[in-house]
Amino acid sequence: MKISLKSSLLASALVIASTPAFAQEENTDLPPEATEFYEPVPPKIEAGESTTTPPSDAKILFDGSDLSAFVNERDGTEPTWNIEGDILTVNPGTGGIKTKENFCDMQLHLEWRSPSEITGDGQGRGNSGVLIMEKYEVQILDSYENETYTNGQAASIYKQSPPLVNATKAPGEWNTYDIIFTAPRFNDNGMLLSPAKITVLHNGIVVQNNYKLRGPTEYIGIPNYTEHPEKLPIHLQDHGNPVSFRNIWVRELN
Ligand code: MG
Repeated sequence: MKISLKSSLLASALVIASTPAFAQEENTDLPPEATEFYEPVPPKIEAGESTTTPPSDAKILFDGSDLSAFVNERDGTEPTWNIEGDILTVNPGTGGIKTKENFCDMQLHLEWRSPSEITGDGQGRGNSGVLIMEKYEVQILDSYENETYTNGQAASIYKQSPPLVNATKAPGEWNTYDIIFTAPRFNDNGMLLSPAKITVLHNGIVVQNNYKLRGPTEYIGIPNYTEHPEKLPIHLQDHGNPVSFRNIWVRELN
């Protein structure tokens, strides 16, 4: 088992290494495991406090009052996620939520916590995610003493880039994400001019440093860019776990 996993990782590493950085080509018949990497493991560090209050020019997406900035991503209806005080919690199985408004380049702040009662492991423990433009996922996962593939742990760019360090707080404690995102640009013929770029601070610590995305998040296979609108919604993922959010705001960088 170990040997076959290692050799499949080696094979996939070779595939990725030999793939031009922003190839626009067909996905292969690779299994999901082919794009999951376990080493090196990002060092574990202890983060300080990094909660913020929104600046005056921020657009408030959620402050506890209501979910009027969002719709259900499946059918556009009113979301049924749970609000208690200033905390929003995934209602598992009801679908993700996405902003009514579309966004391009942005600074996005949000706070999240995984359930204090630990259930599941690996990708099944405290899984959610921020899908910027509904396509580019910054993973949310309970990565506190929870092994999984490094490019799928908290603050990874899912299936692409592991975080530089593991700054995840213990289950039940609040984490912050501050995300600076530049959307990809396409020319009139739909050719990629420049890839999406992302910087992520997790609990105030840089974990993605202007990373150039290889394409939209793919669970299986190699990501490929295809032309999409200049602006698209921000999507918070329902991955079946009751992950909570608070203090969500965005500043457009146009
Ligand atoms: Mg996820």
